[in-house]
Amino acid sequence: MSEGIVARVDLRGVVVLDDAGGLTFCSVRKRLMDPGARLGNAIVVGDRVTVEEETVVTVAPRRNVFQRAAAGAAASGRLQTSAANLDRVLAVVALKDPPLSEGLVDRFAITAEWLSLPFAIAFTKADLVGAAEVSAAQALYARAGYPTFVVAAKAGGGVPGLRQAIDGQRTLLVGHSGVGKSTLLNALIPGLDLKIGEVNAKTGKGRHTTTAATLLRLDPGPPPTDVIDTPGVRAFGLPRVQPRDLSRLFPECRGHGLCRFSDCAHHAEPGCAVTAALAGGGASAARYAAYLKLYAELEGGAPARDAIRPGGRAKSRPGGRRR
Ligand code: GDP
Ligand code: ZN
Repeated sequence: MSEGIVARVDLRGVVVLDDAGGLTFCSVRKRLMDPGARLGNAIVVGDRVTVEEETVVTVAPRRNVFQRAAAGAAASGRLQTSAANLDRVLAVVALKDPPLSEGLVDRFAITAEWLSLPFAIAFTKADLVGAAEVSAAQALYARAGYPTFVVAAKAGGGVPGLRQAIDGQRTLLVGHSGVGKSTLLNALIPGLDLKIGEVNAKTGKGRHTTTAATLLRLDPGPPPTDVIDTPGVRAFGLPRVQPRDLSRLFPECRGHGLCRFSDCAHHAEPGCAVTAALAGGGASAARYAAYLKLYAELEGGAPARDAIRPGGRAKSRPGGRRR
């Protein structure tokens, strides 16, 4: 009997990384599959498992998960869990080529908040923009308290700082393709191709090995430093949040004291602590605008695609309650 962390999930089984750094392809006890006989949500990358004779026999309870709607299953609301036991979600977004999409960053952030996962942002391709643009991007999320990193990974700029910040943690990388995620990973992980090659060799190179999330160990620690690379996300809709729950997912809306109404939507209600903070310069106007935009979107029911509906968050409260 040995223990390890799932580094990759395949159609036929999983690749387990043991504490000594060894990779083993293991089959999975049938009772650990989900009812559809799929490995997908039953065991995911980051799961702690015990292995007996190259078969996974137990999966440890997860401390958290990263989920999104299963591809093409938005209507059914089926969720896909892509990773477990994370210390943080790092959104990788380019400052240019493709242009910075604040809407996308907001979606990543809200999803992480909804799942109660710490969130940070890596701005890439810093060499393509001026210093003013870099500071503006950072300033946008500073009040939210999200750590931001600026990298020009092609030339190695900013990579040591990011590496230090993720030391001893397990970080899930999310981002559209083309933002420079591979370049960043290559700068972070010497011999990356070799490591991915090793994992691939265990699963047998195939159609699924290039699209699956992969856990890569940067340092054995303890505590180990891991990154989980996820395939480029094409559509990334909002979690299925009630409009009134949105303010909870915007850190800027918190910490300004109590609004007069306990269910204040922070629009134009009297006695609103958020709009008061905004007027006093204590909140970011750009992020407040983003909040209003998303609020309207949720009210319109637009983001039904790619919805996420995890449990564990408080239900929305009945309206109109005065404190
Ligand atoms: P991925 O799809 O997110 O993995 O993106 P890649 O790492 O493959 O990079 C996409 C393109 O952006 C490639 O042409 C890279 O050479 C380029 N790129 C990546 N990082 C940087 C950077 O820091 N600066 C510049 N100028 N280009 C970059
Ligand atoms: Zn308010």
